[in-house]
Amino acid sequence: MKKLIVGNWKMNGSMEDARVLIANTINSLDAQKEILKKCEVVVCPPFLHIPAVRHAIYGFPELRFGAQNCSAHEDGAHTGEISASMLRDSSCTYVIVGHSERRTLCKETDEEIGEKVKTALRYDLSPIVCVGETQEEREAGQQQEVVGRQLAAALPKLETYHNLAIAYEPVWAIGSGNAATPQDIQEMHAFIREQLKNYSKAHEDIRILYGGSVKPDNAAVTLSIPNVNGALIGGASLKADSFLAIAKAS
Ligand code: PEP
Repeated sequence: MKKLIVGNWKMNGSMEDARVLIANTINSLDAQKEILKKCEVVVCPPFLHIPAVRHAIYGFPELRFGAQNCSAHEDGAHTGEISASMLRDSSCTYVIVGHSERRTLCKETDEEIGEKVKTALRYDLSPIVCVGETQEEREAGQQQEVVGRQLAAALPKLETYHNLAIAYEPVWAIGSGNAATPQDIQEMHAFIREQLKNYSKAHEDIRILYGGSVKPDNAAVTLSIPNVNGALIGGASLKADSFLAIAKAS
């Protein structure tokens, strides 16, 4: 199974910044093509920058791209939303669903996230479903209960999950510079792997990513933990060198 390395650019930068970042990412990956033997590399720009990224990637299809969110609804009267069918039409292959920033800042519920996963799969997008506990929940020892609940709400029972991935991102590790310890990551990923048996016969094919302050200097250790099948990377994906150094570490 190839590792899945995903850059989440979040709400950063101008159109020109996006053009420069994607050009640097392509050039750097082109110069280190051996990375692609072990990794699938994906970038998720803001919606408005997707056409520029698509244009740049046209001659370099080994690099994939996706979105950071999609609507749970079909096309229609949902002002300000972007549908899964529009993402598919824009050649996205992946979509991040249920990122903790959306759960917290946009009040997305477990149920809504479950609807988004179903809609994304209907349009042949591969959802990257984010789960993870807050600091308070971990201190109360509730991390498995929380992640188990989030998985139960997000995952429909299906024969195949069309390349769906789970991203375990403890909320307290995101953007904080404090990644979870290898032991915490190993325990949670083993728990998630076990849970996945309840949802799909193809559970062994589902990649489980870790996200939360992954940097070039902790990437090799993180990506060698059992059941860590890739990484979701925020801050370090905004520089081509650090993003690809993480991919290379796998
Ligand atoms: C994220 O936002 O998904 C993330 C993991 O961010 P960072 O790598 O900056 O912690």
